[in-house]
Amino acid sequence: MNEYDSNRIYDIVSLIGYTKTLVKKEADCFVLNTCHIREKATEKVYDEIGRIRKDFKNLKKPLVVVSGCVAQAESNEMIKREPYIDMVIGPQSYHKIGDLILDYERKKKKINETEFDVINKFDLLEKISNSQNKTSSYITIQEGCDKFCNFCVVPYTRGPEYSRSFSQVINEAKNLVSNGVKEIILLGQNVNAYNFNNKYKLSSLIIALNNITELKRIRFTTSHPKDMTDDLIECFTNCEKLMPLLHLPIQSGSNKVLKLMNRKHDREYYFSIIEKLKKANENIKISSDFIVGYPGETEKDFQDTVDLVEKVGFLNSYSFIFSPRPGTPSAKKELNNIEENIKRLKILQNILENFQYKNNKKYLSKNCEVLIENKLEKEEKYFGRTKTMIPVILDADDSKIGELVKVKITSCNKKNLFSSHKINKVKAA
Ligand code: SAM
Ligand code: SF4
Repeated sequence: MNEYDSNRIYDIVSLIGYTKTLVKKEADCFVLNTCHIREKATEKVYDEIGRIRKDFKNLKKPLVVVSGCVAQAESNEMIKREPYIDMVIGPQSYHKIGDLILDYERKKKKINETEFDVINKFDLLEKISNSQNKTSSYITIQEGCDKFCNFCVVPYTRGPEYSRSFSQVINEAKNLVSNGVKEIILLGQNVNAYNFNNKYKLSSLIIALNNITELKRIRFTTSHPKDMTDDLIECFTNCEKLMPLLHLPIQSGSNKVLKLMNRKHDREYYFSIIEKLKKANENIKISSDFIVGYPGETEKDFQDTVDLVEKVGFLNSYSFIFSPRPGTPSAKKELNNIEENIKRLKILQNILENFQYKNNKKYLSKNCEVLIENKLEKEEKYFGRTKTMIPVILDADDSKIGELVKVKITSCNKKNLFSSHKINKVKAA
């Protein structure tokens, strides 16, 4: 979502004359769009500002803007801790960034803009064309969360659940497709809670996108297990452009820990959703997020997670050690032993990687469908993805960017598939 927001921030500041530069010392304004989900992400922001300060020691000070969830959560505290910052802007206020910069240029007075103004944000963004023209592009359709998992800052930094208007989303999608975009990834902190006026659900959006001729692939992320409704599951049968990979975070395989986390689902319910999904589309793969070392997690709880992972056989999953976030209920709990947490994380990541590697090996010597996204920066090779998001490195040329091709996979490692064979174009779906 930060990538989507960063692109939209660029669309706005370009209206007041700013352009991107890849030469750091040439910049007269830095916008650091930040993430507050774990402590490491927050600390990176201060490290980056330290580097900017050093680079500009003997140069004119650039304007430094911090946007996103760290700005929302730490607000004035950020400016106090790091006086090099000129402006903090929350994730629901970034549509005002153009006016705020002009205001700062006039008054040279530090600015803190952290109101929740989500409706105005999307109304304004609708009037400014989304300039993305990459093969694969994001559209935010839903923001915020009402679920209040005990470990998570999202309900505090992004605010309550909000769904954008159906027509706004479809118009943005059509605009992107006319820019050359071939894959759209619908985004939301709880994307499958999308509900516009009790009339349009996520399934309505997928069905409408499926009818856009030039669009080739549709994905959505991130889903909450509780909101996996039957109409949405049916889309995996009926919408051929919806890709057969679902990111469905469970966080833990232990019912005790899920309860402590206030996740509002248990492992049995999760298995029942997977079963329905497999019935809807036998090729579907699942990826997930896991938190290791949640306060109160015992070895037995961790083994429940290992057991669940082995039963489901996830792809492309993420796992993190619990990071106490200020202001959340779990931040007050006693932390587990850090060495034990690191050990468990390594075990879990090993199992997840082995599944990925085993899955990648299944592609060897087989033909698979790839959407070519771009040329690699440092090599004469191209980058694409399979239907289930596995990166493929292959031989192609610029004319193939944005095309669906069939390639024979000749080798693989844990992360990527490789092809050194001739590519064939895939007929339109
Ligand atoms: N809404 C999605 C859900 O409920 O599954 C998840 C969205 S959350 C922004 C992304 C991921 O960050 C979570 O699935 C969780 O694994 C991880 N996360 C959130 N808070 C965390 C914390 N305090 N410590 C470690 N990981 C955390
Ligand atoms: Fe955070 Fe997802 Fe839980 Fe909402 S449902 S509080 S976004 S982890």
